[in-house]
Amino acid sequence: MNKINWNFNNTYFSLSSSFKENINPVPVKNPELVLINKTLASELNLNFSKVTEKELSEVFSGNSLPNGSNPIAQAYAGHQFGHFTMLGDGRAILMGEHISKNNERFDIQFKGSGQTPFSRNGDGRAALGPMLREYIISEAMHSLNIPTTRSLAVVKTGEDVVRESILQGAILTRVASSHLRVGTFQYVAMRKNESELKTLVDYTIERHYPNIKKSKNKAVDLLKVLIELQIDLVVNWMRVGFIHGVMNTDNMSISGETIDYGPCAFMDTYDPKTVFSSIDEFGRYAYFNQPSITKWNLARFAECLIPLIDPKKEKAIEIATETINSFDKSYETKWINMMRDKLGLFGQDSKDQVLIIDLLTWMHKNKADYTNTFCFLMDENFQHNKIYNNENFLIWKKRWKERLKLNNSTPEKYLSLMKSVNPLVIPRNHKVEEVLEYANNNDFSPLKKLINVLEKPYEKTKENIDYQYPAPVSDKKYKTFCGT
Ligand code: AMP
Ligand code: MG
Repeated sequence: MNKINWNFNNTYFSLSSSFKENINPVPVKNPELVLINKTLASELNLNFSKVTEKELSEVFSGNSLPNGSNPIAQAYAGHQFGHFTMLGDGRAILMGEHISKNNERFDIQFKGSGQTPFSRNGDGRAALGPMLREYIISEAMHSLNIPTTRSLAVVKTGEDVVRESILQGAILTRVASSHLRVGTFQYVAMRKNESELKTLVDYTIERHYPNIKKSKNKAVDLLKVLIELQIDLVVNWMRVGFIHGVMNTDNMSISGETIDYGPCAFMDTYDPKTVFSSIDEFGRYAYFNQPSITKWNLARFAECLIPLIDPKKEKAIEIATETINSFDKSYETKWINMMRDKLGLFGQDSKDQVLIIDLLTWMHKNKADYTNTFCFLMDENFQHNKIYNNENFLIWKKRWKERLKLNNSTPEKYLSLMKSVNPLVIPRNHKVEEVLEYANNNDFSPLKKLINVLEKPYEKTKENIDYQYPAPVSDKKYKTFCGT
């Protein structure tokens, strides 16, 4: 019976066996539903009204396979911190592609669902904390209007997972417009089978970019589309101070969504060198490095496409290089326009860049909170913080006010622009840690409250206030961990 209304149509499963392995989730001992995303479920046209919570636990743990699913582990490779490796879904299983009421196609994936042929030495499992963390942050990103994979459910498995300590096991249901990654292309390119590469390019275009289906050079056009989408994505990350933390090529989606919430975190005090991940020793994935790493990853993507760009290798490399080099100019333009929006600046003035850089430099020198500085510029009654009485800040603010006059518009208009791009609330690290600690001790209400607050990041509400403060000052640097 299909009481939930699954509507699977599994195109990736239909590809040849070189792209994936057929494998079912490994059943778990005692599944217990802890989070279910009813809003997302309704967008997907799933119906939970005829099922009990126990049945939902069975479904979202993989114990009871959804009707029409064709579980597979996808093959992929990737550059991890610059080193090329064969990877694949080692602890995730793609159940299939669900078609929503708007005829949109979504991958339904279980993360933490047991070993697969790609597990190497891993146990194929995930711990509760990191799965809840992915739920909180991916949903927050969605509410911040940033393309992202979504989170539909978290189920505790009733089994332990052994990491540095013994933790509770859990499975996250991840929803994505696809799980095609730069690493998927790297895996296929590595096999040096041009027909497989063609299949993958055609599959990608059919699924994501049908408007370039008829183009003369599909490979180059696909590269161009992805460059612009990834620029848009990283500009959005820079806008809200998001640090992905592990921008390996296997964690870069071909759909342009943020994917793989491992050691990610939001920057509080403005410092372009901010890194949270404990394994990112050299700051490869630091806040300010994210654009250049995006470009580096796109260059790896371009390399995969070489055989399809032009039959003459040298010519193909020349075209790919030229295309990749369009990144810098486009990023710069999109970044400065995003910063103009954050400051409510209409049009362009030759001094805009200096004005923006001077604010960032001031924030860095004075250890100002990135999010809250923009909140203060929108509303001076926002949190009385003496940092904003600083003389250099007042001088900067005068220059900003002068520039606002060039808008030739009303304060209502520029404020409304600022309010649409400057969040009042972000998933602050100390708050996320706090709710996860409660959740690990079986109290899920602080977690649910945080998730609710993060649903309206641009709205001023009474509930927001407690979540707007930076972490209390302490010497301990916030660290996030991989291998979650
Ligand atoms: P990630 O750091 O989540 O991007 O994962 C990198 C690679 O390691 C992917 O191939 C994962 O499937 C794999 N992996 C991560 N954790 C585990 C685990 N516990 N068991 C098996 N494979 C894992
Ligand atoms: Mg990954």
